[in-house]
Amino acid sequence: MAARMLDGKSLAAQIRAAVKREVESLSQRGIRPGLAVILAGEDPASRVYVRNKVRACEETGVRSQLFELPGNVSEEALIDRVLALNDDEEVHGILVQLPLPKRIDSQKVLAAVSPAKDVDAFHALNLGALLEGHPRLLPCTPAGVMRLVDSAGVPLAGSHAVVIGRSNIVGKPLALLLLQRDATVTICHSKSRDLQSLARSADILVAAVGRPKLIGASMVKPGACVIDVGVNRLSDGSLCGDVDFGPVSEVAGWITPVPGGVGPMTIAMLLENCLRAAGATK
Ligand code: NAD
Repeated sequence: MAARMLDGKSLAAQIRAAVKREVESLSQRGIRPGLAVILAGEDPASRVYVRNKVRACEETGVRSQLFELPGNVSEEALIDRVLALNDDEEVHGILVQLPLPKRIDSQKVLAAVSPAKDVDAFHALNLGALLEGHPRLLPCTPAGVMRLVDSAGVPLAGSHAVVIGRSNIVGKPLALLLLQRDATVTICHSKSRDLQSLARSADILVAAVGRPKLIGASMVKPGACVIDVGVNRLSDGSLCGDVDFGPVSEVAGWITPVPGGVGPMTIAMLLENCLRAAGATK
């Protein structure tokens, strides 16, 4: 039986439409949500991500400002830029596009972002609030995955969720969100033994690795909900996820495509965080 498609593109479009309405209602209180994006260096993938984020802001009425800094920018100059934006009342959200040039200590730069404006929710205070179970701003990709799973009506309480990948921006925070919803969570990583059987025991399987087609059909429990966070560029220029989409969709109950699954949801969650940071009540 073919899996049902979890269409992130259309869910994200609905969320963007709701954001647009909320921006209009905030404007009646004299507030225009504003996002500042800092892009340092020439990484081509980062440029594409930033362009998509700025475009989403334009479409929904969120004011966006892009600060493009050269690849040889100093750590000090980068932090000074962040501090100035922390003090700018028209800026409600600050996003530092990762990866930063290698010489720069990303943790130091991210720590400089005011937690109240940290719309990526990468600041230690926001991650700590997530750990304690009362986050105000949620990391965008994990929040987007949760919305996709919820849109499918997949039951979480008591289910076994397996998250492959333990990064601070995807795997670990997503595991916490799933745990908060009473899933039993297993986190796998590059040193995990017998990934095959761990993955196959999942009711909800999330791949956030960055390895094309790592997850084959034999690693998926029939009927499972499979979420593919991975974005990999193949030698022919096309994009593919961490999941071998064709064969896995014959086994899974639900599946996200790449592109058009988690990616658009990440941007939609960023917009929601901008609203929250600007004082929206919803
Ligand atoms: P990362 O490189 O920080 O982490 C990768 C994780 O995968 C690590 O924890 C590592 O232990 C694990 N891993 C590596 N090889 C493995 C293997 N063979 N078996 C099991 N685990 C293995 O990556 P990240 O920043 O978390 O991103 C992961 C992927 O998700 C990338 O492809 C990235 O482009 C994509 N991504 C997509 C979005 C989106 O919005 N769609 C957002 C963020 C990241």
